[in-house]
Amino acid sequence: NELISMDSLTLAYDKGGDAAPAIDKINLNIYRGEFVCVMGPSGCGKSTLLNILAGFLSPTGGTVKLNQKEIKGIDAHRGVVFQHPPLYEWYSVRKNIAFGPMMQKVPKKKIAEEVETYLAKVGLTDFAEKKVYELSGGMKQRAAIASALINNPDILLMDEPFGALDALTREQMQDLIRKIWWNTGKTIFFITHDVDEALLLGTRILVMSRRPGKIIADFPAHFTKEFI
Ligand code: ADP
Ligand code: ADP
Repeated sequence: NELISMDSLTLAYDKGGDAAPAIDKINLNIYRGEFVCVMGPSGCGKSTLLNILAGFLSPTGGTVKLNQKEIKGIDAHRGVVFQHPPLYEWYSVRKNIAFGPMMQKVPKKKIAEEVETYLAKVGLTDFAEKKVYELSGGMKQRAAIASALINNPDILLMDEPFGALDALTREQMQDLIRKIWWNTGKTIFFITHDVDEALLLGTRILVMSRRPGKIIADFPAHFTKEFI
């Protein structure tokens, strides 16, 4: 059964104006364990869709449900990773990753254990005490992924997460996210401009149209296990 279901989902920034809605009556289901890559020209509505799923934006029409429950506002069910991770630059990597569960009032001992687990998952164990400003872009993105995963969200929402990285780092991060997806079975919704990246990572590709707000293609991608 589906993890996310959108029914005639619509978002118009300019309510009642003549601009086309950024999301225009989308019907779409996303199933558990899918790695969905979303492509399309700039301005087609990719980020808007992600921001609705994250709960940062409320639809102006239709519905969007996660686990049969309408998405309302932000909660720990969704983890979000942006191109520029909003980390606390002057805090250590460890403290940044602990921040989410601290806000959720998870017991300290459990937080400490989980932080170590997620530091290891993203390959940051040896960087735990570094301040974020000391990290390279790839390392920051690793910290952002750990921060998103530590709340054990149902879905990881990623908005061009590797778009600002150099080619080599980008490849390393693609490997990392594939391994995380494969090992955790997490559902991932991943926006990218890069066709190669979409075909490398996705089990399903969605393409949005230049006229904003519509999905014009939705197809399965072949996932090759040899890359893991
Ligand atoms: P991307 O293509 O990477 O999503 P954009 O350049 O489309 O980035 O948008 C960058 C930021 O500007 C986003 O936060 C978006 O919400 C905002 N934005 C985009 N278009 C407009 C607009 N017409 N009016 C106000 N804000 C906008
Ligand atoms: P993408 O992520 O595919 O580049 P966006 O979701 O950022 O597309 O934008 C979709 C459409 O909505 C674009 O026409 C953009 O200009 C418009 N838009 C995005 N953010 C805003 C905003 N905050 N206010 C008004 N219009 C916006």
